Amino acid sequence: TISMLMVDEDGNLAGGCTTSGAAWKMYGRVGDSPIIGAGLFLDNEVGAAAATGLGEAVIRTAGSAMVVELMRQGKSPYEACKEITERIYEKHKNHRDMEYLQVGFIALNNKGEHGAYSLRSGFNYAICDDEKGNRMEDAKFKM
Ligand code: ASP
Repeated sequence: TISMLMVDEDGNLAGGCTTSGAAWKMYGRVGDSPIIGAGLFLDNEVGAAAATGLGEAVIRTAGSAMVVELMRQGKSPYEACKEITERIYEKHKNHRDMEYLQVGFIALNNKGEHGAYSLRSGFNYAICDDEKGNRMEDAKFKM
């Protein structure tokens, strides 16, 4: 998945995402990316979030919507991404496909603060920021 979250100088949000789909997927499978609330969600009053990884796990958790709800309750984008990633981990840790499970979230609030968290290492994201310049950040990860 490649996702993009944007905020303008007035705090207006926009977001979009693509999907790679999933390898060996069932015919007709719909992943999380086209489902608002799962792979992508935003609320202009709060912030925006997007997911990558195993779409089924993200859908079951309403992942991106939950990240935005946690930000509404006062969590930072990083804290919100971490909490939902860990919730997905807890729900799947005994699953037979656990060794293949990867999920990660990026989030941006309407003040321009951003963060990310991933179940596994190797997840990074790019930031395009007029004030601080463009850069890459490695997401923190659980395992
Ligand atoms: N989230 C996507 C899906 O499950 C896979 C990906 O591109 O990360 O369809």
